[in-house]
Amino acid sequence: MSRRLTAFAVLITFSSKLIMGQNHPMADVILTHAKIWTGDKGIPAAEALAIIGDRIVAVGSAKEIGQWRGGATKVIDAHGQRVVPGFNDAHVHFVDGGRQLDNVQLKDAPTVQEFARRIGEQARKTHSGEWILGGDWDDQQWNPAVMPTKELIDPVAPNIPVFVSRYDGHMALANSLVLKLAGITAATKDPPGGAIVRDAKGNPTGALKDAAMNFVTRVIPPMTHEQRLQAINRALEHARSVGVTSVQHMNPPFEDVAAYAELAAQGALTTRIYAAPMETDWEDQAKVGINRAFGSPYLRVGAVKGYADGSLGSSTAYFFEPYADNPGNRGLLSDEMQPIDGMQKRLTGADKAGLQICIHAIGDAAISQVLDLFAEIIRANGPRDRRLRIEHAQHMAAKDFERFAQMNVIASMQPYHAIDDGRWAEKRIGPERIKRTYAFRTFLDRGVHLAFGTDWNVAPLNPMLTLYAATTRATLDGKHPDGWVPEQKISLEEALTAYTSGSAYAEFQENEKGKLVRGMLADLVVLNEDIFAIPPTRLKDVKVVLTMTGGKVVFQTP
Ligand SMILES: [Zn+2]
Repeated sequence: MSRRLTAFAVLITFSSKLIMGQNHPMADVILTHAKIWTGDKGIPAAEALAIIGDRIVAVGSAKEIGQWRGGATKVIDAHGQRVVPGFNDAHVHFVDGGRQLDNVQLKDAPTVQEFARRIGEQARKTHSGEWILGGDWDDQQWNPAVMPTKELIDPVAPNIPVFVSRYDGHMALANSLVLKLAGITAATKDPPGGAIVRDAKGNPTGALKDAAMNFVTRVIPPMTHEQRLQAINRALEHARSVGVTSVQHMNPPFEDVAAYAELAAQGALTTRIYAAPMETDWEDQAKVGINRAFGSPYLRVGAVKGYADGSLGSSTAYFFEPYADNPGNRGLLSDEMQPIDGMQKRLTGADKAGLQICIHAIGDAAISQVLDLFAEIIRANGPRDRRLRIEHAQHMAAKDFERFAQMNVIASMQPYHAIDDGRWAEKRIGPERIKRTYAFRTFLDRGVHLAFGTDWNVAPLNPMLTLYAATTRATLDGKHPDGWVPEQKISLEEALTAYTSGSAYAEFQENEKGKLVRGMLADLVVLNEDIFAIPPTRLKDVKVVLTMTGGKVVFQTP
């Protein structure tokens, strides 16, 4: 619906609610006795707000808002608790996240033996014909950190296909059965942008990096529609419990979008979705005339997502200089970037069609090449408010901050990765490059728009962990209590802004959501502690007590 139509619909609602003798209609919902952080510089704080339909109609003191109370108004007393806008996670893999909630959990397996044991346990629960997927293992948890091999898991799951991912999604381990199904042997060549990890004799170990994982993903049976709906419902349930009222789903297959559309039609989406399918399929969106942020308040499409490189954890992020711990390696450009002309042509076409472009780039050289591509696109198609995005933007070359800001490129970042990678990143890239790693402070100082998210299921969806990470930069191993590269910390207010109106800006929705002011969608959360009154170290333990999406309470603690 256009904004004008929305305003018209609200007007009709207003007039039907007008009571004789009063100069404004009565609210459907009033939230009062709250400590509201509105996110708006004009009126930063308020006590209460009034909602009609799915929108905020007034924000002010408890007394002022009390005048909106009618006989049918539902009043929510926040008992002095802190209220902030609903969180907008700018980068998630929502269906994978939902599916993972019911799958094998490997992220916190403390040893490689426990990793294998959990896969064996899952194998006993798995029906024949089904696969064990996901897992999110983390070799850096193990002492020593070793690359797992198929020999570990073949004995515990000889007859069930196992293809478990490293938590960053850039490496996965297959058992022998899966290597056979995928046709991977010692004779198989590494594909562009990928690597088959091999032992001393040249035989595949089962570990596959980046594009080499495609050998397997091609043979995984597709999810059924029922499984997809189930995964989305699990994801929605989790999202509302942690106060995430909007997500931006990167790389959904079109079947996911269809499932979202079905749930949207039933009014069953409790978190708003912006879907950015693969850039390689840009024409499928363009040919029906869809462009940026097309859709309804609950479901939008019109963006494309691509990959420029791999990840730091898998040593496939693409750098100008070699890895400090592996002098022969600078990382890998993605297969989409090889050849670069193909990427250039597709992205220029997508941009010309009005689609928004989001590109994953982690290493400094990958980011630089994407900025080159963006400059070319702007030259080819002319100036426009296009809000190009770099997803992750983890390791910046000093020379690139300037043009990042100049081209109004959005840095879509995941602070939790910083406190996770911070445990070992310096070993990989040395003391110089870490100064411009997860450079939140520098980005803001240079005037770059930040959008925050988690990359769930790569990192936890809980926004409190992200706020904690951005403000403390205290690594997960407890070794940097005052912050890893502390000069890149930002304030709570800055982090919240990036996570609400910043993410809304990144999806062209800054006039619709992300602030608790008149006219905005009534998406908000009530917290059990005042995050502005506690030390940042305690942010990670704060809980959501109520989540509201579009004026409806979608989650509440008993
Ligand atoms: Zn991602």
